[in-house]
Amino acid sequence: MTRAEVAKLYGKLAKAMPEPRSELEFRDPYQLLVAVILSAQATDRSVNRVTESLFREAPTPESMLALGEAWLRKRIREIGLANGKARNIVATSRALLERHGGTVPAERAALEALPGVGRKTANVVLNVAFGQPTIAVDTHVFRVANRTGLAPGKDVREVERLLLAATPKRFLQHAHHYLILHGRHVCKARKPDCPACPIAEMCAYPDKVSEQDAAPASPVTASRAKAGPATAPSVTAALRGSRPQRK
Ligand code: SF4
Repeated sequence: MTRAEVAKLYGKLAKAMPEPRSELEFRDPYQLLVAVILSAQATDRSVNRVTESLFREAPTPESMLALGEAWLRKRIREIGLANGKARNIVATSRALLERHGGTVPAERAALEALPGVGRKTANVVLNVAFGQPTIAVDTHVFRVANRTGLAPGKDVREVERLLLAATPKRFLQHAHHYLILHGRHVCKARKPDCPACPIAEMCAYPDKVSEQDAAPASPVTASRAKAGPATAPSVTAALRGSRPQRK
């Protein structure tokens, strides 16, 4: 993709999302950090459902530590991976109190030294809580970067590096949200909404969904589709989602 196309792509996303923001609910950097740890392999909506009451009772590292791991595990059971997440959140709360006076550090190395905090989580916290121009690459960002040709890479680190190099300075602050929200709501893994996509013109994805393919199946088409793969609409097979390889 040329520099002009990249700028146009971001310009279109910025126009479509004039005020992009995280879909996680939080009040301060600590609550954001906890919400991001909880969001591993869970939807933001399911995390918000849990944190609404969780943050009323345990809004700070002190209160989280006092209530403890067993209490937290029960509170977050419905979003999965509860054992590991509870262990990490309590250990991170303790580390914040012992090493950082109960505050969340704004430096990558200090963040990544916290239990359960990897590069992606650190990137989200640095960007959302501290306004740093980082780009966290999750499955949605990875998919959009590869499908469009904006930053095609085989793993999340490569995509992050290419995105940081390709993204014009003026779009860096919000690039993470433009890409993640676009991937979550428009360029979806199984069925991208290409007919409604504001960046379709710049997108290099070879299997774009046409207006016709995106239309709901008529009763006749649906009954044929039920009959078997030989007569099913070809679009189903054409929708391929890219998945990041973990290092
Ligand atoms: S045109 Fe389709 S594949 Fe390309 S970015 Fe838009 S929704 Fe995704």
